[in-house]
Amino acid sequence: MTHKLLLLAGDGIGPEAMAEVKKLIAVMNENGASFVTEEGLVGGCAYDAHGAAISDADMAKATAADAVLFGAVGGPKWDGVPYDVRPEAGLLRLRKDLELFANLRPAICYPALASSSSLKQDVIEGLDILILRELTGGVYFGEPKQITDLGNGQKRAVDTQVYDTYEIERIAAMAFELARTRNNHVTSMEKRNVMKSGVLWNEVVTATHKAYSDVKLDHMLADAGGMQLVRWPKQFDVIVTDNLFGDMLSDVAAMLTGSLGMLPSASLGAPDAKTGKRKALYEPVHGSAPDIAGKGIANPIAMIASFAMCLRYSFDMVVEADRLEAAIAAVLADGLRTKDIMSDGMREVGTVEMGDAIIAKYREAA
Ligand code: NAD
Repeated sequence: MTHKLLLLAGDGIGPEAMAEVKKLIAVMNENGASFVTEEGLVGGCAYDAHGAAISDADMAKATAADAVLFGAVGGPKWDGVPYDVRPEAGLLRLRKDLELFANLRPAICYPALASSSSLKQDVIEGLDILILRELTGGVYFGEPKQITDLGNGQKRAVDTQVYDTYEIERIAAMAFELARTRNNHVTSMEKRNVMKSGVLWNEVVTATHKAYSDVKLDHMLADAGGMQLVRWPKQFDVIVTDNLFGDMLSDVAAMLTGSLGMLPSASLGAPDAKTGKRKALYEPVHGSAPDIAGKGIANPIAMIASFAMCLRYSFDMVVEADRLEAAIAAVLADGLRTKDIMSDGMREVGTVEMGDAIIAKYREAA
């Protein structure tokens, strides 16, 4: 079966990191995989070419693909472009049109990097948790959303936190399904003590759990969850939470493990009624890093690890995903470091050398 991938490298270091994934795809195809890739433009480069952050033609390619691999967008060159065609609008359109309601952010601590975390080594070593954030609802999108002039020298700002049952059900179901492929434990985080949306969130997650009673479910208030994440993160397996809390908690979890250049993510939609396949977009957490773009020093690991997530979640290629993640760990254990994760006694390498080393380890294990 062929796997259709759309590669949207974007701006800044996006193309440099994507080039390493392209080499990997070529190697996998030489060894029996059947990826078919197309490319398109997103972000500032799409604005320069088409006057839009993503063209309708590239959006159609994204809809037709089994998965989209996204690099990064933005940079000072496009700081002044109109708001609705700014580089980030390309990413937002992809998320909206593909209905990607779930954002998955793993926080994995590679043994070789445990000593460089800001937390104690025993707290962090061997960490492997997954934060599942609801991505298309909640306070970032709820209406009314406005600032009104009260006419007495005061203004009033309103954002609306709103969730319907189906939005909570589908993200909860995904959390339980993901937990079954991991350590079978879900922690749901909300603020049921002070928010009605928290009360409903808690109720619906508990009700959805009935169909997944083999999975352990805990509830935790989101503020306590934030504290526990930095106190003893290894108590968690899958954390499921809303858009706002997820935004913050996933950034906290991310920094447990070090550099932005290491962090992959996935955004998934509902399974297609006919094919059972979910729409999916995979991207590093980092941006386009204009300060280092074009220098050949960007860390490609977040992009390569995003491709590993694509193998795992879009193509059920679990063996290959495990092998690729093991290759990343092995290269780090050998002491290779890009500049962003460099430490004493290690060997500093550029983007291409890091990519080549990971591909070589992957091949050795194949
Ligand atoms: P950034 O993530 O691009 O960079 C932050 C810092 O981390 C920089 O010092 C950068 O050099 C470093 N860094 C990031 N990724 C790295 C990597 N792979 N290897 C080595 N070092 C890395 O965030 P920023 O500087 O706030 O934003 C730069 C541009 O990216 C802005 O235009 C912003 O809007 C955009 N942005 C895009 C996305 C996205 O495409 N999803 C996300 C965040 C920011």
